[in-house]
Amino acid sequence: MRGMVYRGVRGTLRCMGDAENMNDTIAALATPPLMGAIGVIRLSGGDAIEIAGKVISGKSGDALDSFPARQLCLGLVRDPSGDVLDEALAVVFPGPDSYTGDDVVELHCHGSPALLREVLRLLYAGGARPAQPGEFTRRAFLHGRMDLAQAEAVIDLISAETALAARNAAGQLGGALSRAIEEIWSSICDLCAHFQALVDYPEDDIPPLPTPDIIESLRRIGARLLGLASTYDRGKILREGVPCALIGKPNTGKSSLLNALLGYERAIVTAQPGTTRDTLVESLHMGGHWLRIADTAGLRNPSGDVAERMGIDRAREAARKAGLVLVVLDGSRSLDGKDGEALDMARGRATIVLLNKSDLPHHADVDIAAIEASFPEVCRVSALTGQGLDALDRMIGRVLDAGAGAGAGIHAGGTLLTNLRHAEAVTGAAEAVASAADALGAGFTADVVLTELESALSNLGEITGRDLSADIIDRVFSRFCVGK
Ligand code: GDP
Repeated sequence: MRGMVYRGVRGTLRCMGDAENMNDTIAALATPPLMGAIGVIRLSGGDAIEIAGKVISGKSGDALDSFPARQLCLGLVRDPSGDVLDEALAVVFPGPDSYTGDDVVELHCHGSPALLREVLRLLYAGGARPAQPGEFTRRAFLHGRMDLAQAEAVIDLISAETALAARNAAGQLGGALSRAIEEIWSSICDLCAHFQALVDYPEDDIPPLPTPDIIESLRRIGARLLGLASTYDRGKILREGVPCALIGKPNTGKSSLLNALLGYERAIVTAQPGTTRDTLVESLHMGGHWLRIADTAGLRNPSGDVAERMGIDRAREAARKAGLVLVVLDGSRSLDGKDGEALDMARGRATIVLLNKSDLPHHADVDIAAIEASFPEVCRVSALTGQGLDALDRMIGRVLDAGAGAGAGIHAGGTLLTNLRHAEAVTGAAEAVASAADALGAGFTADVVLTELESALSNLGEITGRDLSADIIDRVFSRFCVGK
């Protein structure tokens, strides 16, 4: 039964437990439930045209099923008594060449939430049922309109926080990642076929492939997989923002600065040193970059209580992982060993030193030139007045654009892994391929090598959806919103 893994999954999508639901016609709002110029309602299913046709018809009374396919047509939305509710556009996408593979109808109504609710109510009364989160894209996947990596790209595209993140997601939606995975999949399949034959027909004269050549191929495939896995660090930045640590001893104004940057009160600000015990993480745009800022507990004497020590460790950890470290010093007071400790944490990292409280007189002991000797980017700011924040914005842009920061230099064409599930699967596949090469080199039998190769395929299959358990599919689609 060994051949099942790659025989069964090549080009085959498994549809699990969806048979009855897949026959339903679903409807949902595809735009946010807020007031807007327009609101789009989408229907998908065998009865989509019939059900939508009960609600909308052409202005001169022509039925929806006579509308030309894939063209926006003006119509009137009426309630069952014939009263006009809206003048709207409708477009019919006959299956299977639609987003979901079913017949799909979109109604572009005016964007009043009350109106849209009423239109949906009529559609549900007409036989549609409310769509589950992600159900449209789930159908697209189950109908083979896209693979799982592409389906996940849809949600990445919807939730992209920057143009670069959108570009990468669009590339993945276009199949860039899937193609890269498919190529590797196919090379492994070829090798599998060879070892499968050796296992199934040991007595036959199967022309031997030179072992060193196979090991070389496996090493090449493994290196490619590891190269792909290594893109996750950059992909994560693309998706989540440049990790940025805000460190400094207590009371220098870190929480106040975070608040000033965010423009609202998120961190607890207090005159008592050491209040920010935990780490807050906020995302914001600065200097043209998307930053994920962690405000860590202030640096205090480690003889403090446990919670505080954990906070300090967290600050150290955040600084170590950060693509940009913001060290906050109180420029109105003389510096001490704790300030030196904060600066030490930032050494070797892309760093900006913030001399906060610039609204107060600058303390004569704070030697800016001496700080600049180690950290060229020093910015005088005031969290209280907002002074210097514009300069900080420009400085962040300069530092990250210059390539010192972890977010710099990302070229997103769709082959950056942005999803932990994908990164783990690619790493798992790389390990299995390495084990196959090791097994072959150590003279193990064909079935041992084959087992490792099957494991590699199974890992890769999880990415595109070739070999999936229902719960993985459920996990993926539970991330979607209704209407997508
Ligand atoms: P943290 O412990 O580093 O997070 O410091 P906080 O943000 O809690 O601030 C400590 C104290 O310094 C509070 O009383 C703040 O109001 C004050 N503070 C923070 N930033 C400034 C500033 O720019 N100017 C002045 N004058 N006071 C500030």
